[in-house]
Amino acid sequence: MHDMTGQTVLITGASRGIGADTARVFAQAGANVALLARGADAISALAAEIGDCAIALPCDVSDYDAVAAAVDQTVDRFGSLDVLIGNAGVIEPISHLGAADPAEWGKVIDINLKGVFYGMRAALPVMLAAGRGSILTISSGAAHGPVEAWSHYCASKAGAAMLTACVHKENRAAGIRAMGLSPGTVATQMQKEIKASGINPVSQLDWSDHIPADWPARALLWMCSEQADPWVGQEISLRDPDIRSAVGLI
Ligand code: NAP
Repeated sequence: MHDMTGQTVLITGASRGIGADTARVFAQAGANVALLARGADAISALAAEIGDCAIALPCDVSDYDAVAAAVDQTVDRFGSLDVLIGNAGVIEPISHLGAADPAEWGKVIDINLKGVFYGMRAALPVMLAAGRGSILTISSGAAHGPVEAWSHYCASKAGAAMLTACVHKENRAAGIRAMGLSPGTVATQMQKEIKASGINPVSQLDWSDHIPADWPARALLWMCSEQADPWVGQEISLRDPDIRSAVGLI
């Protein structure tokens, strides 16, 4: 396991699913973890489970001031910010583009796209001052191909993937490692919502087709290691057997 002792990791969307398992994996690796989500009770419970190296920071990532304040609180508490994991995301309301509610469609962009930018914008000055840092964004196959009734999600994930590439282009020379992780399908609340929609082929998948949330969590830890340096600036996929092998999942 990659040793993260003394490093601080901020994880958005840490109240459940991939984000919560990511917090557990990084804490086990010795990191301090800052847990962000709207669900204050859930992140408080997770911070209590993890112990003194965790802090719960209730935060809606679609509010820039709230994200910036959470970054400040993280640095105040732990003294640094070494890794940003842009994981918070939503997929509801699932609907065909021609019937989508414009305001609700826009809220998904506010969370999945603008929320990712807000995290990068708030974290980068801290990382650039330190001359190092990793910015990891949870991507999706939906960033690169259309999926029926997911226009909001596909557009937001495509934008988030481009933001990650832009961070790399502008900041690699300054010591910033930016990478994307496309996890495949993961057994979380989001897949329950997808299944309930019944709309596209993803909703027809069997629950056993999904990987556990622990897998992307372990991949994110590996992405902070020197072993992942050849993929800096790129998006990796957990559907790729070579990546699964490199991470130690198979
Ligand atoms: P999940 O269990 O539904 O978790 C989503 C997380 O995002 C929750 O912690 C939620 O917390 C948080 N969140 C949502 N809106 C937020 C907001 N406005 N501000 C702060 N936090 C917010 O789903 P998941 O599968 O773990 O999803 C994590 C990431 O993986 C997402 O970016 C998703 O797009 C991506 N992904 C998932 C799959 C999959 O198959 N599950 C596949 C590809 C990519 P609160 O509700 O408490 O705020």
